[in-house]
Amino acid sequence: MRLAETVTFGGSGLDRAAALRVDARRMAGMFAEGLVLPIWRGKPLVVAQGALGWVAADSAILGAKPPVFLGLDDGQARFTQDISDWEPEMLEASQPAGFVDANRQRHPALPDDHAFEDLRGVMALLTPREAELAATAKAVLHWHGSHGFCANCGAASEMSHAGWQRSCPACHAQHFPRTDPVVIMLVVRGNKLLLGRSAPWPEGMYSLLAGFVEPGETMEAAVRREVFEETGITTGAVRYLASQPWPFPASLMMGCIAEATSEEITIDPAELEDALWVTREELVEVMAGQHPRIKAGRKGAIAQFLMGNFLAERLD
Ligand SMILES: [Zn+2]
Repeated sequence: MRLAETVTFGGSGLDRAAALRVDARRMAGMFAEGLVLPIWRGKPLVVAQGALGWVAADSAILGAKPPVFLGLDDGQARFTQDISDWEPEMLEASQPAGFVDANRQRHPALPDDHAFEDLRGVMALLTPREAELAATAKAVLHWHGSHGFCANCGAASEMSHAGWQRSCPACHAQHFPRTDPVVIMLVVRGNKLLLGRSAPWPEGMYSLLAGFVEPGETMEAAVRREVFEETGITTGAVRYLASQPWPFPASLMMGCIAEATSEEITIDPAELEDALWVTREELVEVMAGQHPRIKAGRKGAIAQFLMGNFLAERLD
């Protein structure tokens, strides 16, 4: 798909400068002169105009946790640091409110227009470079936060390689940041597209079917299995279209198109609340927010990107 990498989080060619990660002394020097994206409990620092909030390495808001090197942006070193230990005065404001956490946490040491925000709320406003930096930072910090102990022997592990490994001092195992592959698919039958909805989603919202790839499975097999498990629909040819890093918390969404070979829907109520076929004409209304019953998902998600390009016949 020619437009594949124009999806939100589709990448900007960031120079990750991986060869520099092993040089701890040089990293320390680059950190002192670099810019840091603070992330608080999964929320990046954002400026009101929809840009990331970068601070200098000596900023008072940064804590003691080791920084992670993100790469070089036009030659300037970019880092991220987890500052989740900070306790805001109004702690109740940190609770997620439904699909997206709409609360913004302001730090007293920062300008008034800076706040920690749910990345989902601003992802479609960021430049491709900032989107790649934010997705990378959020995903890798989440991995550190949830992998503090060696999976081999259980001892506490330590961050190494500027944040791109964890090393176990007890058994010397090396651990690397994980990305979980997920398939998400346009399932088509003539003029119709298959949509589904999960119970926790906002009322009326439908989207493409999706699911995790299992060990030992190809992407194509995962598409066919998930579609059949969730809706009872059988599919034939499957073709890859585009991928999207999705740092909520650590997935790689692999967008595909699958040709349905059956039509009768039998939903698995454990996975889906409802599934239905929509015509192209109905999908136009859904995407325009004018359908009487069906609502589209959030802008920036690969589902919206795939459905929009399906309607525009730009899947080549
Ligand atoms: Zn170990």
